Amino acid sequence: NISQNQPVIRQLDETVINRIAAGEVVERPASAVKELVENAVDAGATRITVEIADGGKSLIRVIDNGCGIAAADLPLALSRHATSKIDGSDLLNIRSFGFRGEALPSLGAVGRLTITSRASGAAEAAVLTVTGGTLAPVRPAALNEGTVVELRDLFYATPARLKFLRTDRAEVQAIGAVVRQLSLAEPFISFTLRDVTGGGEGRVTFRADAEQGELLDALHGRVAQVLGREFAANAIPLDAEREGLHLTGFAALPTYSRGAAVAQFLFVNGRPVRDKLLVGALRGAYSDFLSRDRHPAAVLFIDVDPQRVDVNVHPAKSEVRFREPGVARGLIVSGLRHALADAGHRASTTVAS
Ligand code: ADP
Ligand code: MG
Repeated sequence: NISQNQPVIRQLDETVINRIAAGEVVERPASAVKELVENAVDAGATRITVEIADGGKSLIRVIDNGCGIAAADLPLALSRHATSKIDGSDLLNIRSFGFRGEALPSLGAVGRLTITSRASGAAEAAVLTVTGGTLAPVRPAALNEGTVVELRDLFYATPARLKFLRTDRAEVQAIGAVVRQLSLAEPFISFTLRDVTGGGEGRVTFRADAEQGELLDALHGRVAQVLGREFAANAIPLDAEREGLHLTGFAALPTYSRGAAVAQFLFVNGRPVRDKLLVGALRGAYSDFLSRDRHPAAVLFIDVDPQRVDVNVHPAKSEVRFREPGVARGLIVSGLRHALADAGHRASTTVAS
């Protein structure tokens, strides 16, 4: 009987597709926090609060004062590949963090997701709940402004994934790293992270010092809040250019190096990235100043015409591909070496005088 051995090709249903996509987009609670905070930034929020319980496993709540979602659009926000951020005609000129329309449907497939939102100018707010990929009807709700996204019981629907989560402490740390990273990318936005486990009140706040003004000043203030006054005091401002690629940010003096690569933050066109090429270049720039077991501390922003870099490499979007990787590397190595040499020169002339 041929039909028994013959494989049958079927279209997977939407819930299964979302669950598979979630495997890529939402690896752990910190990746859910990243997606939700990025959505809040994309919505133009100036204040973003993240509340978590039990390492984000039982609760992640992101509250923003952004533009909100119209009640009629709520179901669309939760359907796959639906986005307000691009129209599909120009994948190269992406300014927003999001563009794939994957995060919310993925989160709705692996946790209990509730979105309450009030579109700016709307008379009232609306709420939509998704459990295991099934949408409840949209209902009226009470909310003054912006959006509250609440994700409970992450991975309850995918027990295999649940088993691979690390301790609450490790997850809290990873969530803290995500909030720090995004707060460096957005120094004009106020961020609060609150651990409400068991009704607790652990809290980290990064206040926006200035809502306008010079970006580098705001960034310096944020660097002091996020990485500490000592880093800020040892940080040299960067400003270099090579063939149309720009480098700004702060690099710490070699004397302020760390035993682990915990204080390295890299951004390409405002997007946090964890790119081997750039990390390698950062290390290379300090190679004359640091021993192998020390790691440089730096917050680097590379800005380049979007035509010359592809941010569309991975769903979690932390990789980028430069059209001219050699130029990016050269910019970091020479930009940092010059800044460090200048600072060293100034330091030694100060001592001499
Ligand atoms: P993407 O960010 O790639 O567009 P998401 O699944 O993360 O995809 O979100 C889908 C859509 O829902 C967004 O394009 C946006 O229109 C809307 N949305 C999500 N979060 C928010 C928010 N916090 N404020 C306003 N709109 C939001
Ligand atoms: Mg998104």
